[in-house]
Amino acid sequence: MAVADETASEDFLLALLNTTPRVDGIPTDQLAGPAAARSWLLRQGGAGSAAEQRRVVAVRDALQAVVRGQQPPGILAPFLDGASSRPALGQGRVTWTLTADPDHLLAVRAVLAWAGLSQHRPGRLRPCANEACRLFLLDRTKGNTARWCSMAVCGNRMKARRHYQRARTTP
Ligand SMILES: [Zn+2]
Repeated sequence: MAVADETASEDFLLALLNTTPRVDGIPTDQLAGPAAARSWLLRQGGAGSAAEQRRVVAVRDALQAVVRGQQPPGILAPFLDGASSRPALGQGRVTWTLTADPDHLLAVRAVLAWAGLSQHRPGRLRPCANEACRLFLLDRTKGNTARWCSMAVCGNRMKARRHYQRARTTP
């Protein structure tokens, strides 16, 4: 498998981190059921096997904990075990081919995408500022000022709450 381009990797990482949204206030997991997990894995270029599902769920949980600052990045290291990347030159460009156990490839891709972001754009990947929200955001704004996964959902909700609290505490 060729290493996907940067934006595709980042989108994949964000999609993975956001597989545990709250729906109508209830925490859900899009990778919990075998059928739902399989179609999600296939959409992301995976094989959809049960072993792949277990690996991807494990790396997602680890990545969520790291991005939330609850665990050190070192817990991601085992997910790279057995993976290697080989360069090849064609048409004046170097392309890298990633090799790993087929059931581990998506998890490797997720860790590499996280590592690339941490190195080149530190602090851009973070949890939504709404504590009740379980989603993550990748801030692509120039000033690094985005706070919510979505202005339409959490942004307006948080603004309304702050307005309500202000109104309540003002005598
Ligand atoms: Zn949110």
